[in-house]
Amino acid sequence: MKNCIFCKIINKEIPANIVYEDAQAIAFKDVNPVTPVHVLIIPKKHVPSVNYLGFKDKELIGDLFLIAQKIAKEQKVAESGYRLSFNVGKDAGQTIHHLHLHLMGGEKLPFA
Ligand code: 5GP
Ligand code: ZN
Repeated sequence: MKNCIFCKIINKEIPANIVYEDAQAIAFKDVNPVTPVHVLIIPKKHVPSVNYLGFKDKELIGDLFLIAQKIAKEQKVAESGYRLSFNVGKDAGQTIHHLHLHLMGGEKLPFA
């Protein structure tokens, strides 16, 4: 989608530190990490948020979690622990309206 920063990363129009890519999804380091490991896993298809997912997206959503699992191992946080989260809408602080799964770890995380 035009003017979507994450679509631009997918299309390699703007750079990102990409740690995983396949036909359906891509993962890259968050430009403003809040934890030592902070990776965003996103579908290549432009979906604005969890609110816009349908049953047809079941496999795609599952893939995002399995990619997160693989990256957690590679980034050496699988055993120490990590958090996976989707922010949805303004009360959750969603700023980029292209679905993204946050993978955060590498230190003790606060609750919430
Ligand atoms: P949200 O608050 O929407 O759940 O998270 C958006 C995340 O995207 C933020 O953590 C922010 O730092 C990250 N982000 C925003 N713009 C860019 C960018 O251009 N490149 C990368 N790698 N991350 C970005
Ligand atoms: Zn997009």
